[in-house]
Amino acid sequence: MIAQKIYSTYKLAIHPPEFKPEAPKLTGNSTLQDTRTMSTTRTQVAIVGAGPSGLLLGQLLFKAGIDAILVERQSGDYVLSRIRAGVLEQVTMDLLDEAGVGQRMHKEGLVHTGFDLLFKGARHRVDMDKLTGGKKVIVYGQTEVTRDLMDTRQAEGLPTVYEANNVQVHDFDSQKPRVTYEKNGQTHTIECDFIAGCDGFHGVCRATAPKSAIKEYEKVYPLAGWACCLTHRLCTTN
Ligand SMILES: Cc1cc2nc3c(=O)[nH]c(=O)nc-3n(C[C@H](O)[C@H](O)[C@H](O)COP(=O)(O)OP(=O)(O)OC[C@H]3O[C@@H](n4cnc5c(N)ncnc54)[C@H](O)[C@@H]3O)c2cc1C
Repeated sequence: MIAQKIYSTYKLAIHPPEFKPEAPKLTGNSTLQDTRTMSTTRTQVAIVGAGPSGLLLGQLLFKAGIDAILVERQSGDYVLSRIRAGVLEQVTMDLLDEAGVGQRMHKEGLVHTGFDLLFKGARHRVDMDKLTGGKKVIVYGQTEVTRDLMDTRQAEGLPTVYEANNVQVHDFDSQKPRVTYEKNGQTHTIECDFIAGCDGFHGVCRATAPKSAIKEYEKVYPLAGWACCLTHRLCTTN
């Protein structure tokens, strides 16, 4: 079956705040030992990737009192300028609220309770709110979600390493996992209890894990028929 995800992408104006990533500040159980060419940092969770998933996980862990360091290969400005999602579903809104970062989303986002289809001059309302028992979507750009999470992280003084080169994960299935990266000509090691791979489908974490150790969870919606309906084409689901 063809799995299709159809998203409406709304381009929002971006005005990234002056973002100056700091050297890792350490909290709770973290320790840092510097040498001239190498540093070793200790934390509970090393998160690879500071997109929405990594940032949100970092925030949820922070709220749970768990130390984490984020390691991102791009700059903060680059991450903020990456236009992608525009519509957040109810489950995402709920999670952002749970993480304590949903205030601006509720203030500035545009709530949609459904949509209209037009056929031969007649309007057909699909009332998602009613059909799903009160669920809505909100138009709020991914860049804004990212900005809110970054701002919160920065305000709390939580460590994020941007422009980390050659990020590698080591011994991730052992009791002593490590993440290494290079920055400013130095090699750095983060020793941790867990590594969270939030670096996307093509990231280093998925590539490092053996296929047999990967379990995928996927929910496939029957959207192929939906797309066919819009394009007046005969639909196949193979
Ligand atoms: C055009 C488009 C429209 C979309 N519209 C919607 C929508 O309307 N609603 C919706 O919910 N979703 C939408 N999505 C999906 C949404 O954008 C993704 O689900 C979301 O970006 C996933 O976030 P993530 O943090 O998991 O991954 P990413 O955003 O990909 O972030 C991964 C991070 O890891 C970093 N990274 C990668 N490799 C490494 C490495 N080796 N070392 C260190 N860091 C690394 C990357 O630089 C990146 O910052 C859309 C996607 C696209 C492409």
